[in-house]
Amino acid sequence: MTRPDRAPAPRPAKRARASSEAKAATAPAQLDLFPVRPVIDVLDPRVSVGAHTGVEHLVRVRLRSNDAPHLVFHDRHGWYCESHGPTCHTVQLARDVVK
Ligand SMILES: [Zn+2]
Repeated sequence: MTRPDRAPAPRPAKRARASSEAKAATAPAQLDLFPVRPVIDVLDPRVSVGAHTGVEHLVRVRLRSNDAPHLVFHDRHGWYCESHGPTCHTVQLARDVVK
């Protein structure tokens, strides 16, 4: 899929003149990635999966409050999203939270 809203902007040649006050006026670049704060809930795997589970961590991540949640597991197989596997980018968010 193409994302027309993220077309690369040509860099102005006189970039060196961009002062710190110009930086302060713009939002941090990270906000572009997650315009809305993700909603992250750390769950108890013994409650959600079962008393004898080998799951060490279970984290529910929603990138927006009304999005479908990603369930991120940490067990002997490592970290992975239930729906998208270990490469799902919510895995990193979950790891950061339980660290
Ligand atoms: Zn996922």
